[in-house]
Amino acid sequence: MTAAAGGVVGVLALQGAVRPHQHVLEGLGVTTTLVRSPDDLESVDAMVLPGGESTTIWMLAQANGLAAALKHRLDGGMPALGTCAGMILLAGTVLDGRADQGSLGALDVAVRRNAFGRQVASFEADLAVDGLAGPPFHAVFIRAPFVERVGDGVEVLASVDGHPVAIRQGAVLATAFHPELAGDDRIHRMFVGSLAG
Ligand code: GLN
Repeated sequence: MTAAAGGVVGVLALQGAVRPHQHVLEGLGVTTTLVRSPDDLESVDAMVLPGGESTTIWMLAQANGLAAALKHRLDGGMPALGTCAGMILLAGTVLDGRADQGSLGALDVAVRRNAFGRQVASFEADLAVDGLAGPPFHAVFIRAPFVERVGDGVEVLASVDGHPVAIRQGAVLATAFHPELAGDDRIHRMFVGSLAG
């Protein structure tokens, strides 16, 4: 399922860094659509869950049934890329979440919110990411989570100080950083490339 074959990648558009993801995907020739409701989800073949505020995104997605619809699609094998808050939303377990915060359970991991510290601890790092050819990836971390526990089926693609920050489980890819802000489309290419066939 490539864009050329008619695939549509939805970008979750309830809150957060929505447009930059759309911009990178469209630069790769991918057809995108914004997803705000269960109806919107019906037309997509894969999803990007952007960064933002996971508590807010979860609350909005719960309120209109989109969380349940997303979970159903993910359980059925829909490919997804989650970045920062999107990684939190895809996790099985959220640590330091708000009491009423749930998640989609598409990744067998525990993810800790704001794990590197709060806003002041935002930083950038050049990361070696497994599967990316070329120079290190310039990764922008903004109140980022990291992964604390990884299940058997989860591949760790990159770490910072021993903490996984890029992971993949089957068709689901997630980064604790913001690849859409890097001026480097290799993470999106990796995701889009995985949709072929
Ligand atoms: N700290 C945010 C959260 O918990 C994530 C930050 C981000 O997406 N840049 O949702």
